[in-house]
Amino acid sequence: MKKEKIILTGDRPTGKLHIGHYVGSLKRRVELQNSGEFDKIFIMIADAQALTDNVDNPEKVRQNIIEVALDYLACGIDPTKSTIFIQSQIAELCELSFYYMNLVSVSRLQRNPTVKTEIQMRNFESSIPVGFFTYPISQAADITAFKATTVPVGEDQKPMLEQTNEIVRRFNHIYGETLIEPEILLPDNAACLRLPGTDGKAKMSKSLGNCIYLSESADELQKKIKSMYTDPDHLRVQDPGKIEGNTVFTYLDAFCRPEHFERYLDEYPCLEELKAHYQRGGLGDMKVKKFLGAIMEEELGPIREKRKEFEKDIPAIYEMLKKGCEVAREAAADTLADVRRSMKINYFEDAELIAEQAKRFQE
Ligand code: ATP
Ligand code: MG
Repeated sequence: MKKEKIILTGDRPTGKLHIGHYVGSLKRRVELQNSGEFDKIFIMIADAQALTDNVDNPEKVRQNIIEVALDYLACGIDPTKSTIFIQSQIAELCELSFYYMNLVSVSRLQRNPTVKTEIQMRNFESSIPVGFFTYPISQAADITAFKATTVPVGEDQKPMLEQTNEIVRRFNHIYGETLIEPEILLPDNAACLRLPGTDGKAKMSKSLGNCIYLSESADELQKKIKSMYTDPDHLRVQDPGKIEGNTVFTYLDAFCRPEHFERYLDEYPCLEELKAHYQRGGLGDMKVKKFLGAIMEEELGPIREKRKEFEKDIPAIYEMLKKGCEVAREAAADTLADVRRSMKINYFEDAELIAEQAKRFQE
């Protein structure tokens, strides 16, 4: 039988989705969805994972589920092609996590670089919630439950995929071939691996408040771009400017295409020439920001409009999510049955075991 190609990916409902999500994963998902190359696509709103570091703010997580779902639909995720579901509704994931916990050591979890950074960012050093510390294990459950072969995510997720593959290998080694090792699918464009925040910080993240949201109004979008971090030493237009670490140019690397120059800045033939002028001196930040503003509006304007349409029927979106959860639950239950069988904890289905035990006690 041909191996099925399955995608699992998702986002935490800790806020609306931002352009980091878009270039890091969301845009790719829509392309993969429409390529028709995948047998199944599962997109998870990771509310249970969001609770691991938002225990004091469950309402934030609850409120943002619909925001994330709206962002998905607005970007072109099509529920007739992709199953969108909510993590907490799939109890099977907890059971899988519980078994996987025995396959991972505390010191292995402590070495996860993304979790390390996140612990620092959240000031958790002295009191790390156990659930947060172990979320890479629960993520392995999410991925393997759907027998995912492909996981399109941003670079910060690399350690989670490595952890998942270690769990899969260990499980299969102990219990026999059962789980599937997934492959990470990172963005091709280097600027999209980890899009920086508007403040120049290493990662745009809902938790850092340095985001441009997909649903930003046209005015707010331009305002945020105008106040973006550039090169702090580029004070006068005639000064030479730096491109490295200059967020405006990183966003241009992520979003700019050759045709944008024809439309909005035809005095330059390409991005390389624009960068060279900035580095030489004589090109002001405002001109570059205006160009970026036009490009971003072209990309985000249609998403904003589509979102407004979907906002008109919120109950229909909950209904769609409910159906998605049903489909997801069935898929996860299948895997859990395989796992129980491999672990030989399916006692009541195991006629051989019962006969063996009966014989043992009669001897
Ligand atoms: P939080 O701050 O709550 O962790 P987040 O902004 O990091 O939120 P997640 O829900 O953790 O967002 O990430 C969802 C997906 O988006 C993941 O695949 C992640 O790799 C990707 N992603 C998030 N931020 C970025 C970014 N700045 N650049 C590229 N990809 C990103
Ligand atoms: Mg994150």
